[in-house]
Amino acid sequence: DPSDNIQQTPEILAKHLKTTGGKIVTRFPPEPNGYLHIGHAKAMHLDFGYAKKNGGKCYLRFDDTNPEKESQEYIDSIIDSVKWLGHEPCEITYSSQYFDELYDLAVELIKRGFAYVCHQTADEIKKGREEMTDSPFRNRSVEENLRLFDDMRKGKIEEGKAILRMKGDMKHPNPCMRDLIAYRIKFHPHPVSGDKWVIYPSYDYTHCLVDSIENITHSLCTLEFEVRRLSYNWLIDVLGLYRPVVWEYARLNLTHTVLSKRKIIRLVKEKVVNGWDDPRLSTLNAFRRKGYTPESINLLCETIGVTRTNNTTIPYELLEFCLRQDLNDKVTRAMVVFDPIKVVITNYPENESEEITVKNIPHIATSGTHTVPFSRVVYIERNDFRLQDDANFFGLAPNKEVLLKYAYNIKCNEVIQDAAGKVVELRVTYDKTNATKTKTIHWVSSKAGAQPTPVEIRLYEHLFTQEDLGDDWFDQVNPNSLKIITTALADATVLGSKPYDRFQFERIGFFCTDEDSTPEKLVFNRTCLLKENKEK
Ligand code: ATP
Ligand code: MG
Ligand code: MG
Repeated sequence: DPSDNIQQTPEILAKHLKTTGGKIVTRFPPEPNGYLHIGHAKAMHLDFGYAKKNGGKCYLRFDDTNPEKESQEYIDSIIDSVKWLGHEPCEITYSSQYFDELYDLAVELIKRGFAYVCHQTADEIKKGREEMTDSPFRNRSVEENLRLFDDMRKGKIEEGKAILRMKGDMKHPNPCMRDLIAYRIKFHPHPVSGDKWVIYPSYDYTHCLVDSIENITHSLCTLEFEVRRLSYNWLIDVLGLYRPVVWEYARLNLTHTVLSKRKIIRLVKEKVVNGWDDPRLSTLNAFRRKGYTPESINLLCETIGVTRTNNTTIPYELLEFCLRQDLNDKVTRAMVVFDPIKVVITNYPENESEEITVKNIPHIATSGTHTVPFSRVVYIERNDFRLQDDANFFGLAPNKEVLLKYAYNIKCNEVIQDAAGKVVELRVTYDKTNATKTKTIHWVSSKAGAQPTPVEIRLYEHLFTQEDLGDDWFDQVNPNSLKIITTALADATVLGSKPYDRFQFERIGFFCTDEDSTPEKLVFNRTCLLKENKEK
């Protein structure tokens, strides 16, 4: 094999060193064929993180060589997600911006005898690879290859009737050396290059060459690309270009979800979820809408580190643990009751109200305070009341006293039920001088004569109840992954909140304002419960 003798010459390395100044250069190379998911957060953490730690730089490079699957919408959302996680690309590039250069290199490859135009069908190519037999077109002359490749470029050959193949070794034990495709014909406009090209380079051809062109020093990729390392090096070497170092790491997998753009697209297209940012998905937009912070996702990446062990599936609980770590010290408390019971404080003056002071974040002295109104009518959570008390019950019951958090003790004197026995109102008295009961419940009230704010709450469960999903993943979708609560009342803390604002709803969990909110009705997404599995 003539390529065995081609080495990284001192000249190539010197030229490379001159452009990089000896600094680390990496790239994050998504294909713009979908929205980024949390697996990509790991890739970014390594690509951007490694460069940053070493005083180098990292490109955001769109690997855009499949125009029929790619779009500007995906490009925009990817740029957005990269920024959201706090990464700063030194430059945003596109594989397509190198199409001219890549074409010239293909011509050079033909001239060096390392590529040929092949007319085999996809099935024939597959069979040849399996049986390690040469294509009948493998040994045509350089001149003929140049002419046919030019015909391909000029649109003179129909789609599927010719491809440019790299001339590796059809008998090589590694299938990636068996004459991979370099170019194929596609009469399809491209989101960046428009209709300039009707031939497009393959991933295998493009990725290594653009890494080399951009003077990437460390090309980090996931383990499934390990087998392609040989062909990566081979192509660069036969063209006599600078060769980056390739490092592989394990893909991130998460329990209860799918991490693959192809699968996520299916969930979106078949309307299992409501769009790419449906909080039940594993896209970064979904996590963001659900109320996740970029810090919590980066914390997960930091926690799991770099591993080369394959098939490591991270428990979803670890992600939520990282999330709570971050939210605990950041998020203002609010009180919300989901299923309210009206409570009338009979010894509280009818037309009066007061403002109760609440610490924004009780364990952080500097977090400030806010006030919530308190008057004769308050609402408590239905499951914080029982007709029959027992020693372990923390809530209110007939003749029992509890503390309304941040306010006063109340004692239940009378229970009003409707014909069906449902509790519709409680009559209580409050003790203005006493706020000492250990049994404490949350509540919502309003100024005298006004009503608390009604809000919509969206509760999310896993989209897949199973931890690990097999090939029949699509049939395992949890039909009860979204529950909408329309009866909830909120205290004044949440008034005027904007999409992505976050709160801790006392005793329940973390929530964030959804973008479906209107001035008339605020909508909140449950980000996570306060503690693991509290509800189950
Ligand atoms: P998908 O199968 O979801 O489409 P992909 O690998 O095709 O993923 P790309 O857009 O090509 O997605 O990926 C950009 C970078 O992110 C690549 O370096 C890829 O290896 C990496 N990456 C993709 N998925 C994961 C994952 N689950 N964990 C870690 N890195 C990932
Ligand atoms: Mg890909
Ligand atoms: Mg993919």
